[in-house]
Amino acid sequence: MADGGSPGALRKPLVSVRGLKMHFPIYAGILRRKVGAVKAVDGVSFDILEGETLGLVGESGCGKSTVGRALLRLYEPTAGQVVIGGEDIASLPPDALRRKRPMMQMVFQDPQASLNPRMTVAAIIGEPLDEHTDWDEDKKTARVYELMDQVGLNRRFANRYPHEFSGGQRQRIGIARALALNPRFIVCDEPIAALDVSIQAQVVNLLEDLQDRLGLTYLFISHDLSMVRHIADRVAVMYLGQIAELSPREALYARPLHPYARALLSAVPEADPTLEATRQRIILKGDVPSPANPPKGCNFCTRCPQVMAVCRDVEPELAEVEPGRFVACHLMAMDTAGGHASPGAEVREHNQQGEVK
Ligand code: SF4
Repeated sequence: MADGGSPGALRKPLVSVRGLKMHFPIYAGILRRKVGAVKAVDGVSFDILEGETLGLVGESGCGKSTVGRALLRLYEPTAGQVVIGGEDIASLPPDALRRKRPMMQMVFQDPQASLNPRMTVAAIIGEPLDEHTDWDEDKKTARVYELMDQVGLNRRFANRYPHEFSGGQRQRIGIARALALNPRFIVCDEPIAALDVSIQAQVVNLLEDLQDRLGLTYLFISHDLSMVRHIADRVAVMYLGQIAELSPREALYARPLHPYARALLSAVPEADPTLEATRQRIILKGDVPSPANPPKGCNFCTRCPQVMAVCRDVEPELAEVEPGRFVACHLMAMDTAGGHASPGAEVREHNQQGEVK
């Protein structure tokens, strides 16, 4: 992809990812020889603009959480560039990476598992300050109180332990900890997946509010397509370690272009009862192939309702097919060249044939 999915030159990208690969080796035998690799992320490129929320969606196991962790170098990327704030995180030596850590943070999925049960809330939120500043206790305590105020936690609870809080409050503690060092970029990895539905919206509203007040940039990883529709400016749809489509939110939800994005989004209920009555669910056949042995050509070719001979042979590039819309599909190239029916028309044809519902 030429420019990594940037919708224009109005805002600068804070994050530029190019050709990111994260392969996990597979070892076997008594000599533990490497016999292959799980290609969890296999050549992903995108930009995230300053102050933007990029949603990253896809089924479980598609590699979206691995992208988030590789971006912050919680995993060592196999290949590719991850430029955050002008420096390539993927190739920084340990000391320089440590100096860079304050500006990029993560909010984890399970607040129960990500908070040390033996530490008080004040100690958890203040831990990054212990690591990265030489502030005295008074200054650290003042900052911890300020952070608790920012995320809506009562200061009186500073000396309590995580188990004394509800799931939503624990996630607020995790968010306060992520904010401690004034980051510019936060990876939110399924931040509401472990929460009751009734409090998911509160946490999302808090993240939006903090973004407005602090000018934060988010990568919002989620399988909840309705929530991503609410929070993201642009959305990248991942399938089997690669980006199938990256589009502005409204355009994607109104008219997804990639056949996989169409199938995925057909599962999202419409708020408007008239639209909901006409919604056609596309059910894909077959299972997602193993990332240890992805298909040749297009990685979606084993399940795509519109597969062609070329798809089984040639891998499609993620290319800009409309202003700001990036799609990896051979149908798009044919469409652009005017040599093929529109992909939407083909889906309708498949629906009539009953190949997809
Ligand atoms: Fe389907 Fe071919 Fe497009 Fe892949 S390249 S999504 S198999 S039409």
